[in-house]
Amino acid sequence: MADQVFQPLPTVPDHPALEEEVLAWWEAQGTFAKLRERNAQGPRFSFFDGPVTANKTLAVHTAWGRTLKDVFQRYKALRGFDQRYQNGFDCQGLWIEVGVERELGLNSKREIEEYGLDRFARKCRDVVVWSADELTRGSKRLGQWMDWGNDYFTFSDTNIEYVWRMLKKVHASGWLYMGHRSTEWCPRCGTSISQHELTMSGVYQERADPSLYVRLPLSDRHGESLVIWTTTPWTLPANVAAAVNPDAEYGRRLNGEWVAVARYPDETFDERLRGSELVGWRYEGPFDTLAPGAAVEHRVVAWDDVTLEDGTGIVHIAPGCGGEDFELGKREGLPVLTPVDEAGHFYDDYGWLHGLGTVESADQIIGNLGERGLLVEAGLYEHRYPHCWRCDTPLIFRIADDWLISVVDLRQQLLDANATVEWTPEYMGKRMDDWLRNMGDWNISRRRYYGLPLPFYPCACGHLNVIGSKAELEARALGGLDQLEELRRPWIDRVPVGCERCGEPVERVKEVGDVWLDAGIVPFSTLGWQNDEWIPEGYATGAARGLTKADLPDHAYWEQWFPADWVSEMREQIRLWFYSQLFMSVVLVGRAPFKKVLGYEKMLDETGREMHGSWGNMITAEDAFARMGADVMRWQYCAQPPDRNLLFGFGPAEEIERELLTFWNSISFFVSYANIEGFAPSWSELAPAGNVQPLDRWLVERTHAFVADATAAYERYRADDVIRLYESYVDDLSNWYIRRSRRRFWGGDDASLRTLWYALVQTLRVLAPVMPFLTEHIWRNLVQDGPESVHLAPWPEVAPPDRALLDEIVDVRRVVTLAHQARAASGLKLRQPLRRLVVEGASGAQGHAAEIADEVRVKDVQFAKVDAELRVKPNLPALGPRLGKELRAVNKALQAGAFEELGGGRYRAAGHELEPGEVLVERGGREGWAVAAAEGVTVALDTSLDDELLLEGRVLDLIRLVNSMRKEQGLELTDRIVLTVPDALSEVVDRHGAWIEGEVLAVDIRVGGSAEIAIAKAEARD
Ligand SMILES: [Zn+2]
Ligand SMILES: [Zn+2]
Repeated sequence: MADQVFQPLPTVPDHPALEEEVLAWWEAQGTFAKLRERNAQGPRFSFFDGPVTANKTLAVHTAWGRTLKDVFQRYKALRGFDQRYQNGFDCQGLWIEVGVERELGLNSKREIEEYGLDRFARKCRDVVVWSADELTRGSKRLGQWMDWGNDYFTFSDTNIEYVWRMLKKVHASGWLYMGHRSTEWCPRCGTSISQHELTMSGVYQERADPSLYVRLPLSDRHGESLVIWTTTPWTLPANVAAAVNPDAEYGRRLNGEWVAVARYPDETFDERLRGSELVGWRYEGPFDTLAPGAAVEHRVVAWDDVTLEDGTGIVHIAPGCGGEDFELGKREGLPVLTPVDEAGHFYDDYGWLHGLGTVESADQIIGNLGERGLLVEAGLYEHRYPHCWRCDTPLIFRIADDWLISVVDLRQQLLDANATVEWTPEYMGKRMDDWLRNMGDWNISRRRYYGLPLPFYPCACGHLNVIGSKAELEARALGGLDQLEELRRPWIDRVPVGCERCGEPVERVKEVGDVWLDAGIVPFSTLGWQNDEWIPEGYATGAARGLTKADLPDHAYWEQWFPADWVSEMREQIRLWFYSQLFMSVVLVGRAPFKKVLGYEKMLDETGREMHGSWGNMITAEDAFARMGADVMRWQYCAQPPDRNLLFGFGPAEEIERELLTFWNSISFFVSYANIEGFAPSWSELAPAGNVQPLDRWLVERTHAFVADATAAYERYRADDVIRLYESYVDDLSNWYIRRSRRRFWGGDDASLRTLWYALVQTLRVLAPVMPFLTEHIWRNLVQDGPESVHLAPWPEVAPPDRALLDEIVDVRRVVTLAHQARAASGLKLRQPLRRLVVEGASGAQGHAAEIADEVRVKDVQFAKVDAELRVKPNLPALGPRLGKELRAVNKALQAGAFEELGGGRYRAAGHELEPGEVLVERGGREGWAVAAAEGVTVALDTSLDDELLLEGRVLDLIRLVNSMRKEQGLELTDRIVLTVPDALSEVVDRHGAWIEGEVLAVDIRVGGSAEIAIAKAEARD
């Protein structure tokens, strides 16, 4: 045997082990650094990384997005593009705070303040430091190539200053205002929740709330009352009015209760009035027994929005506890009662309710109403109700003073900017449009601690001072600078500034900013927008000091890298990061910060359920790395069409591992025969040449088509298309080329080895972005004198493929598949040779009769009309909707055989042309023939047998048996054998001995002397 050129492959790849080995090799070789250096002068490809919240280890959800980012960055790198590779961490906000609260056992804002804001801030930073480390480690293991160590951290002073600068511009434009209004509020977190946060997944959850029907006695109509319905008992003590639809009809029941007639169509009413006639009636409030309610004159108001779809048609109005109620109250001049404090507890003027929470007060409120005879009915009501996205507490409405950015002037600009963006999938861009059209003003303030400090200093003189930078803060500070460790609470709260109008000292508001401000500013803060000079490590400021070495570039750099060519995050980010980036970009420079977006849907477990730690179906990235490996994970992520949810799990991973074996086995096959022949191809002669046969030429063209089509898919940012193209290509490679060429490999044919090597190497290059480890591992085996890494090889350039030739083989494979179907239907095994196959249609296959004959195991292939009875039926789901009433006539014509074949699988019947997908075609064969048909191709297999055919069938049975015995006995591919067969096979050996010897590498066949078939390794001949 010749020296082994290639390392033989084990039966199956050990993904985790080979990945660890490749990681170590990349590290030792500095492969990524070499790639960046090679591309340094190349064209630029700008990508902005959406910051991952640094409060956890790497999750498989996060790994999905990281994989897609890595795949397309790797692809662009292979194409020679220079890139920034800056990773980002999101470091502030409720995610971080709530985790730390839990860790420290703190249960309220009061306890945080008692713990100390400086200690609390340090704890939050510790979490970020730990998590950034974990996320980096996990991402490296995933194979993500980023400029680790030069990450951006959103809690750096630099990032904060850039947000300040944006807010100053917002203020200068007149868009910043303090809103006094009703807002969704988390009583546990003690802060308002903004509109876009309500769109986050998991916010709306099914929940059973009390359902109360409450009687409100009318003051001026003795013995009569209004009946209202509510699911939030805690809002009743804040009731000030009852709203009716002015155009609806209301009726008085026999017991004096007024309700909307439409809600109770079967009831009898003593009196009926239009809603408008009820307006102005006065009634006793449900809790006039408590001081705030007693002070209010309750009356009926008109409101067009009162629906007659649920409740009683009379709506309880508490402007202090609901957004719509608040707006209605403003219009009607209603008093506003705010019953609960920041933590959702009743204020002390609510008597016996004092200190109770909104949920726990329900029973006592219901009991009290019952005692006073005001309760008509109490039950439970199931509905979808918003919860805090961070802590899962049911939200309430509260009146709050929040800082808002008016979107009135910006809305159209935002829509125009979005119109310049190319979204994949397209519908996500429409969703952004919908959001931009319907969104309200942006509530940017949160009453929390570990967040961007809003730089607002409202003065008693009425002037709002907005600080735009740290330098401005220092210039205007009246003290406290010496203790200003970071631009963060509590330190910044101790730095008062002088009012620019009256000169008096002013303190900062206590609020921090919406976390999406931090992430949205990234296209400016990381690229040095309007920064005069490049500042080495200028991003390592404030809390980020010591965590990164990232520079703050200068404005010229920003000009080069803004906007991003491409960004990618999950769909949820449309109203979050994609929105905040777009918003801030439009404010600062009037255009979109990205040109193309790839969004993707949600990840669920493999059975379609959400993954939850408490449900036991959560997969950690660590687990996935250990059990399936990063390449298989990446494959799962990439194969997923982005418009559908990904069902991730170990089950799908096993399928992928099985599927990958086809490629693995093809490589193993090549390695085995190349080693036997001592075939050592050189990188410089990658293109196939020499004495190629038609099948080799076909594989080369097929490979070129794969390269060209996969390249186009990468350009569309559709990794799922890359995978589908690969799957069909590898099927052709393995189940057509290799299988059809086996005999040539046995004979050591140079052209086939060279062609197969070419195909495998090109496949590795195309797959490298998706499976960086496996491709690298194989590359280092198959390409011995070329680029040291597949990731350092340039992207394959191929000639335009010969599509006409490829179409021919598509036809050939279609004929072969149909012939196998026909054979299976007639119960004949594949090893039984047959006389004849007749093919109708598949004109491209005409030049390949010999190949088809060989594949299908027939003596003769004829292209002719198949003599078979044709039955055509309507495909109802496809044809019904199109034809409607006409379907009957068409069906009748088809049944009667009154139709015309138009070719290409199309038919005409009853005056209608029917497409291939609109009909079901069956062909019944004549006696002695098996027929199969699909897509305009029909084949008929002659199933009659004679002695000669039967004998050949026995030969093939014997060959198969002997070859499986060779394998079982562990013989090498080249080992020769002596074959012994029983007397019963003497005729088989007499007639076809040479054929058998050739197929099983026998040097001799001995007949008789044994009742069993036996093989023995022959002595080497020399
Ligand atoms: Zn909360
Ligand atoms: Zn002032």
